[in-house]
Amino acid sequence: MNNEIKSLTLSELHTALEGQPAFRAKQIYTWLHRGVRSFEEMTDLPKSLRERLAENWLLTAPVAVRRQASKLDGTVKYLWQLHDGNCVETVLMKYHHGNTVCISSEVGCPMGCAFCASTIGGLVRRLSAGEMLDEVLFTELDSGQPISNIVLMGIGEPLDNYDNVCRFLELVNSGEGMNVGMRHISLSTCGVVPRILELAESRLQLTLSVSLHAPDDETRSKIMPVNRRWPVDELLAACRSYFEKTGRRISFEYAMIRDVNDSPETARLLLKKLRGMSAHVNLIPLNNVEESPLKPSERSTVLRFQKILEDQGVACTVRRTLGSDIDASCGQLRRKYQKTNS
Ligand code: SAH
Repeated sequence: MNNEIKSLTLSELHTALEGQPAFRAKQIYTWLHRGVRSFEEMTDLPKSLRERLAENWLLTAPVAVRRQASKLDGTVKYLWQLHDGNCVETVLMKYHHGNTVCISSEVGCPMGCAFCASTIGGLVRRLSAGEMLDEVLFTELDSGQPISNIVLMGIGEPLDNYDNVCRFLELVNSGEGMNVGMRHISLSTCGVVPRILELAESRLQLTLSVSLHAPDDETRSKIMPVNRRWPVDELLAACRSYFEKTGRRISFEYAMIRDVNDSPETARLLLKKLRGMSAHVNLIPLNNVEESPLKPSERSTVLRFQKILEDQGVACTVRRTLGSDIDASCGQLRRKYQKTNS
């Protein structure tokens, strides 16, 4: 973690402030979680303490280097520059049930999925807990829109950054901080099995989304290298155990890729694999990624696939695409400016 003060829990902050009156930790924690940009702004602290904090701690506060608003649906995409010059994207989406922020967990991504822009160029570094909190905090401050839901579905693999992600969850959930309920948080993974099992043990009430995208190893290994390490049956066994431990239904993401994973036979195999499981399938017509030759399935193919699942009682929705005019949809986020198509 290093010396980022915002990554500390309230009790760690207490310990770090040894020698100070007991109320100081809470006072500082509240300022941090309100999104101050400097210790100077903590006006009810003695000047000497503010100076000492500034000498010893890094107070992160990302800078919005680009904001893009969708003309179609009000989605806003931010490109944030972090303290070391790296950038990540965050997306604010407006749903009828409240504003949702989609945050990145890493700068780049090591997982290498064939259809995803975020992984081009690999992993640069993981985000700290405080930096993930900053994405939520500063999106709320900048937009003036109160945030009620968080999805860890931006750039990066949250379960590749497990400790920092768990710490972030604790921070954003804390009553003295943003107080976002676990049931308002979703975490999406490409299938890092040991971490799914570990997360199950913590029995958090968040929603786990699993990026499945194919029910058979041959197809899945082709588009998702992670499958070579943890194949479909192992992944689904971990999902079953996750449900048993937490009582939370798993949400499976399934990007519909033309002629790759969208046939009726594939739908039937998926049904077979999900049998007896409390699952929800979210079909996502593949979003365009310039560098990838993969194409989205036809609308009629998506609906046919959905019907096969629904006819057998599997809950299945087709995800509404938000922010497609600003490349803010699933799999389109990047850590860099993309050259514009001209
Ligand atoms: N690494 C995590 C978090 C990323 S979430 C994960 O893999 O789950 C982003 C979601 O968008 C994942 O389900 C991912 O598989 C999906 N996705 C990636 N590229 C996509 C694309 N081009 N079209 C549709 N969905 C895509």
